Amino acid sequence: MSEAVIEEKKCWGERFVQLRLKEEEIARCARPGQFVMVRVQEGFDPLLRRPLAVMKVEESSFYLFWEIVGRGTKILSSLNVGSKLEVLGPLGRGFSLFPSQALIVAGGRGITPLYFLASHFKENKIPFTFFLGVKDKEELFMVDFLQDFPGAYFWSCEEPVEGGFCGTVLSLFHTWLEDKSFSPGTGVYACGPEGMLKNLYREGKTQNFPLEVSLETFMGCGFGACMSCAVEKSNGKGYFHVCKDGPVFLAQELKW
Ligand SMILES: Cc1cc2nc3c(=O)[nH]c(=O)nc-3n(C[C@H](O)[C@H](O)[C@H](O)COP(=O)(O)OP(=O)(O)OC[C@H]3O[C@@H](n4cnc5c(N)ncnc54)[C@H](O)[C@@H]3O)c2cc1C
Repeated sequence: MSEAVIEEKKCWGERFVQLRLKEEEIARCARPGQFVMVRVQEGFDPLLRRPLAVMKVEESSFYLFWEIVGRGTKILSSLNVGSKLEVLGPLGRGFSLFPSQALIVAGGRGITPLYFLASHFKENKIPFTFFLGVKDKEELFMVDFLQDFPGAYFWSCEEPVEGGFCGTVLSLFHTWLEDKSFSPGTGVYACGPEGMLKNLYREGKTQNFPLEVSLETFMGCGFGACMSCAVEKSNGKGYFHVCKDGPVFLAQELKW
């Protein structure tokens, strides 16, 4: 467990927050797809830490980005620059990092670990294309994150917006895939709502490539002690624990 100091805070409307936190060890060791467990506040309420993916690292700092969905993320969003946050990590198994080329599919806040992955691909000159889907105009600001990857991204919005594909990220992705062919070493990487991941896998459009998904299950401890984040294996031989076996899995290993 370490203490990270909030160096910068950005908010978008009432729902989204990004922090830059100073913590050398996490900044040095975190790999794309890994997460940290964040203590919400002092005392025992809420008791459980909340898992958040690492979005970016920069010298001795790292970034978190989250959507406010309940009490924990709401309390965290009230912290300001200069406050300290107790964090445990980096935890979990991340994405595989060296495909010959990559297709990245993000739904809403699922952009967080995938932004980190795309930064790694950019740094290592691995060609990639990023597809981001947002639900509404309130989430459109996330497209700005992708300006760090010029010419390598497409986005969709479920509300009609000028200049954007109107629909879900999966229809955008499938439309784009139609007239393309890929080498065997291509990897597909996804994070987003469970329904999106399930459809991406079941529709089979990625069946010629390994599909890696990052899951956002409920989690108690973050390191395999409480077993609350179990997901069933596809081979019927028990369960994975998302915190230590994941959060990134090959989609075919999971029962959907
Ligand atoms: C490895 C991992 C990485 C994650 N990274 C991010 C991230 O980078 N950014 C981000 O915004 N979120 C991320 N999440 C999800 C985030 O941890 C939860 O949204 C958060 O814990 C909710 O806490 P809360 O106290 O605000 O909400 P709670 O009060 O616990 O719940 C509020 C509502 O959200 C639902 N809910 C809570 N947690 C989940 C969940 N995990 N899946 C589905 N529904 C849920 C509850 O049913 C309830 O309706 C990640 C989750 C995991 C497992």
